[in-house]
Amino acid sequence: MTATPKRIFNFINGDFIEPIAGKYLDNIEPATGKPYAQVAESGKEDVDLAVAAAEKAFVPWSKKPAAERSKILLRIADLIERDLEKFARAESIDTGKPITLARTLDIPRAVANFRFFATAILHTENEAHVTDGVAFNYTLRQPRGIAGLISPWNLPLYLLSWKIAPAIAVGNTAIAKPSELTPMTAFLLCEVCVEAGLPNGVLNVIHGTGPNVGAAITAHPKITTISFTGGTVTGKKVAEACAPLFKKVSLELGGKNPNIVFADADLDAAIAGSVRSSFANQGQICLCGSRVFVEKAIYKDFVDRFIDKASQLKRGDPLDEKTEQGAIVNKAQLDKIKFYVDLAQQEGGKIALGGNSPKAPNDRTRDGYFFSPTVIVDLPVACRTNREEIFGPVVTIMPFSNEDEVIGYANDVEYGLSSSVWTQNLNRAHRVAEQIHTGTVWVNCWLVRDLRVPFGGMKASGVGREGGEEALRFFTEPKNVCIAKS
Ligand code: NDP
Repeated sequence: MTATPKRIFNFINGDFIEPIAGKYLDNIEPATGKPYAQVAESGKEDVDLAVAAAEKAFVPWSKKPAAERSKILLRIADLIERDLEKFARAESIDTGKPITLARTLDIPRAVANFRFFATAILHTENEAHVTDGVAFNYTLRQPRGIAGLISPWNLPLYLLSWKIAPAIAVGNTAIAKPSELTPMTAFLLCEVCVEAGLPNGVLNVIHGTGPNVGAAITAHPKITTISFTGGTVTGKKVAEACAPLFKKVSLELGGKNPNIVFADADLDAAIAGSVRSSFANQGQICLCGSRVFVEKAIYKDFVDRFIDKASQLKRGDPLDEKTEQGAIVNKAQLDKIKFYVDLAQQEGGKIALGGNSPKAPNDRTRDGYFFSPTVIVDLPVACRTNREEIFGPVVTIMPFSNEDEVIGYANDVEYGLSSSVWTQNLNRAHRVAEQIHTGTVWVNCWLVRDLRVPFGGMKASGVGREGGEEALRFFTEPKNVCIAKS
């Protein structure tokens, strides 16, 4: 097991190479506010090199039997699992997330992504359609060529591997761009790919900023498939770049997710689940339930108990085993959170918990980016704080009177990513789930993510679905072969 590097190079054609312009960006540890490594600041020329490598690798890789591709992906999964501790530590340092979260959620999920798609390709079925007396049709699903995979900083390896695994499993080659804020585990993944025997050029990773590397990927005519996860504003730019080139695009974007608690809910479970969905990863998960709606009859009790539980979350150095709330990813994100907490107060909100940066947990983290779990009450439902994505440890809690009213509140935003409903009334659960405009509705749970289910958002939360069969379909081109009956 090698140590984490001081300089993060690009990975092209199986080699770790410097960016052509020789430029680097500081890679800052959020918990300390200090650079601890440097990451390649690449540009279009580096993307061109990666495209050449991916193009060369495509034919042999796509022609390899699925069973052979599967074996290599399974080896990648095994090697990440072998190095789980190294990956978890790197993810925690790079993002500021608690090491226990990286160890139990992010890295195991990356392992699962590779295993899932490695085995999924061994169990596919092709459709056949008989046209009575005329012809026999079957559907070929073939890899599309080079896939561009762009991911955000909040769940770096979790999300990048959720794209890389299906893209290459079905026979595409790939060019991936992690967020330049959190590049370390993508680099470690490349080391693992070499050890697993992934042929050169099948996976290429280009580091750098969105406007340089991300835009070069979306604009490149030879990269015909784009899977993007990130903010809605960036998603719009990606869509604009891809549309004139007729690229196949999947956009997984932001959210402002409602978390609805009915008076008939199991309150202990609803409070525990809601605290988790509000503050996991410091609220920096696209699926976090940032708008909590509570039925009037239990509102006061819920708020008191929610605040009591949230105030017990252990804040600290992300590398401390006991920490439950780590650091915010960077200063810009911390400033954005502070801006929204100020705005909430101008809009009439009252801070019931937090609302500030706590004292640094230790000397090492004196200059780190921390913000306390924050609860805001008394806000009108339709204010900016309740409509715009904050992406931090900030939730608003609001009362509602009845089912119809809360469904209206839940849907009254631009976003439509996910929602949670807490109730013990099964009929109500079905009724509400049917009427909420989100890609996922969780009932009495949150973040249960079966790899087989379709995943994605409605409205401004995205276009298309990935996950399971949807991902296999997204990364392939269906072709109808029609054979006449003589
Ligand atoms: P961004 O949209 O800022 O960035 C996402 C990725 O896109 C990064 O790699 C970024 O690079 C890159 N990028 C930036 N500009 C461009 C461009 N013009 N062309 C192509 N790529 C570009 O999102 P964040 O990294 O800030 O992540 C947070 C957002 O992601 C939140 O809105 C969150 O809701 C959303 N998200 C959605 C998920 C979902 O499944 N729906 C899951 C997780 C997060 P760089 O880092 O250099 O800016």
